[in-house]
Amino acid sequence: MRKLSRDEDFILRIQEISQQNIADCYQCGRCTAGCPFAEFMDEPPNRIIRYLQLGLKDEVLKAQGPWFCAACLVCETRCPRGVDIPRIMEAVRTIHLRSKEQLLDIDRIDKKILEEAHPLVLMSALYKYSY
Ligand code: SF4
Ligand code: SF4
Repeated sequence: MRKLSRDEDFILRIQEISQQNIADCYQCGRCTAGCPFAEFMDEPPNRIIRYLQLGLKDEVLKAQGPWFCAACLVCETRCPRGVDIPRIMEAVRTIHLRSKEQLLDIDRIDKKILEEAHPLVLMSALYKYSY
């Protein structure tokens, strides 16, 4: 059986960045039920939060769910506990990007995309490297 270890530092870091209390979630599932992108996510919003509650860093960081989140705020408005899930998803992405994994390498982006993409898209993606 695979041994799962709880990473307390990871939980605290997510809470610090998102300013959310992970323990507030009681797993009702309303966030996932309303999320327009849940069907495309390998791990939907409530499961991401459950993994965080359990401190399962590897499960959270390998999930694609946070990258599908469009920050549409539907989940936040449906949550009976007032959990701001988009902030948590953003915190997960931020930790990923700050780990210096080359998820986005400016030198490998097609020149045509660099010329045509909205500057805000590129700036929001790149600012996390310079933090
Ligand atoms: S709606 Fe809120 S309380 Fe319910 S599972 Fe989602 S985050 Fe947790
Ligand atoms: S903010 Fe993200 S997780 Fe929440 S409903 Fe929208 S796409 Fe889904």
